[in-house]
Amino acid sequence: MRKLVLLGSTGSIGRQTLEVISQLPDWQVTGLAAGSNIELLAEQAVKFGVKTVAVADEERAKELAQRQRDLQVLAGQRGIEELVERVDCDLVAVAIVGAAGVSPTVRAIKAGKDIALSNKETLVAAGPLVMKMAEQQGVRILPVDSEHSAIFQCLNGEKSENLKRIYLTASGGPFRGFSLQEMEQVTPQMALAHPTWQMGGKITIDSATMMNKGLEVIEAVHLFQVGSDRIQVVVHPQSIVHSMVEYVDGSVIAQLGPTDMKIPIQYALTYPERMPAPTEGLDLFSASRLEFLPPDFERFPCLALAYQAIEVGGSLPAVLNAANEVAVEAFLQGMLPFTAIASVVEEVMQSHEVQPLTELEGVLACDAWARSHAHQIVKGWCR
Ligand code: NDP
Repeated sequence: MRKLVLLGSTGSIGRQTLEVISQLPDWQVTGLAAGSNIELLAEQAVKFGVKTVAVADEERAKELAQRQRDLQVLAGQRGIEELVERVDCDLVAVAIVGAAGVSPTVRAIKAGKDIALSNKETLVAAGPLVMKMAEQQGVRILPVDSEHSAIFQCLNGEKSENLKRIYLTASGGPFRGFSLQEMEQVTPQMALAHPTWQMGGKITIDSATMMNKGLEVIEAVHLFQVGSDRIQVVVHPQSIVHSMVEYVDGSVIAQLGPTDMKIPIQYALTYPERMPAPTEGLDLFSASRLEFLPPDFERFPCLALAYQAIEVGGSLPAVLNAANEVAVEAFLQGMLPFTAIASVVEEVMQSHEVQPLTELEGVLACDAWARSHAHQIVKGWCR
């Protein structure tokens, strides 16, 4: 039996991970964590026979402990960290959204647990620290993001010195064809309707601004130890090619599949084995046309900001990430226009004095500084 602790089990990736697990032989879920959705968390715990859970919201954790006395409920951020440290498991799947994923991931690595990583914000904010720690602990970081899973598969068995370039594909989001003027009118409802993927709110907005692709560039830099100048974003509206790798001999290897996250989730769980598909396979004949277009940095400035952040390095990617989280939340609450998300991130980045990040405390301090500065800027927009 392989044992899994799943963080963010009530979210889009978390729920799909449990669907995949329920079809796989030899897997047992030993711990679950969520932000505040205790109703679904309790249901999942009963269904999968889980004895220990953690809830980030301390009030909600207390409520759950009172309601379900046979369940051990750990509370707060510390509770989630305790869960990954104390509960017996081989793999921790991190499907929390945002920088809240950083500390639990670090704790899990320190405890020697392999990681199935969906939470890209962890590598954006703390990539060098996390990758170094994983190497020191002999821990594997298995990518769940569909593009990174594709690259991981295209790199399988090849020598890293033969890699020329990574082509990171992007659907282009719902506003691919919009002018700058049209983008100024975008509402949360419009931005939440992604053309090809069903995802949580934050990543859906990130896809619409293309910040998601920027975060993925940074994630790929750390996961595959490649400079950002060798990562080319390619807009591919059909979302069938999940990414490609070009080798020095001119060969380009691509991974194709249906737009269903259950496939990369399952691969991260079963790697290096492959199991029967958890979903309908790809129908090549209905996908007769594959387009590849260059990204437009002018209409999607968040992508340019992400490249800038990783080129400068140090604390700047953590600052970009935190400012973006605040700006996205403000947009979803109707406090900020869509096009101002990039403006807020840019302003916070410009005010930041970049520093090297050698400790987790430094990452968390820069994250907190960027959040507080971004909140001030958002307040200015509301006046
Ligand atoms: P969702 O918003 O659907 O789910 C987020 C999960 O995180 C929920 O379980 C939520 O709990 C939990 N959570 C929120 N805040 C905290 C916190 N402070 N501490 C602990 N748990 C918390 O997000 P997604 O599933 O869409 O995305 C999760 C991650 O995976 C993101 O980093 C995203 O970028 C990445 N990803 C997602 C893809 C997708 O298709 N959805 C594809 C590739 C990557 P609660 O429900 O209680 O609020």
